This record gives sequence, structure tokens and C-alpha cells, in this order.
Amino acid sequence: MPTYEYRCPECAVFDLICGMGEAPDSTPCPSCGTMSRRKMSAPHLSIAGSAEFRLIDNSKRSAHEPPVVTGLPGQGKNRPAYTANPLHHKLPRP
Ligand SMILES: [Zn+2]
Repeated sequence: MPTYEYRCPECAVFDLICGMGEAPDSTPCPSCGTMSRRKMSAPHLSIAGSAEFRLIDNSKRSAHEPPVVTGLPGQGKNRPAYTANPLHHKLPRP
């Protein structure tokens, strides 16, 4: 169900969840009871701007716009000094 925004003249903006097309033009404020008019706003139906949308957008972008790097991964000051995993001791040394 969509979320509709109402502006209370005494308090602030509050949300009301109603069925599509069932939102009243005015409703009492849940805090003070003053009749509040519906605020014209974009419907909150899209996932645009959400964490899921940013993840999908970044994944698509990295397919054709990979980030520019200045060195090999694992080198530089961010490289760990050692590994604590005992299985890594069996790996061949460079
Ligand atoms: Zn109010």
C-alpha cells in the first residue's frame, strides 16, 4: 500500500498508509488531532534510492565502468602484514 504524507498546521508532516485511491483529503493529526491536509508528494512505491537499488546500479555500472586503480590489489598500506589462517602457511611462497 502506498504511503501518503499529511501536513499538520500545528505539528509537522506525518505519514498515513492507505489503499491506492482511498487516501482522504484531510485526516486528524495523530499527535494533536488537528485536521491536516494531504501534501502533494511523489508516491513512495519505487525502490529508487534504496540500498537494493544502489547495489543493483553499482553492479551494472562496474560491468562497463570499472573503478580506476593505481596499484595491484593487496599492496600498499592497506595490505595485511600477515595472515592468521594456518592453512595459508601451506601456500607456496613467492
Ligand atoms: Zn498535529
